[in-house]
Amino acid sequence: MAGSFFRVTCPDCENEQVVFGKAASEVNCAVCGTTLARPTGGDAEFAGEVVETVEAR
Ligand SMILES: [Zn+2]
Repeated sequence: MAGSFFRVTCPDCENEQVVFGKAASEVNCAVCGTTLARPTGGDAEFAGEVVETVEAR
């Protein structure tokens, strides 16, 4: 199964950003720099709220 992308809302500034579900490095909010996802070796752990799943094509 290919990885999916998730639309995550930043807990600090409510910016919505698309994050790869198996991110290999920390993903930071493009607006305020808060960590939105951190790698766990498998699926990333999201710090913000996942509002939508975006299937990879
Ligand atoms: Zn933010």
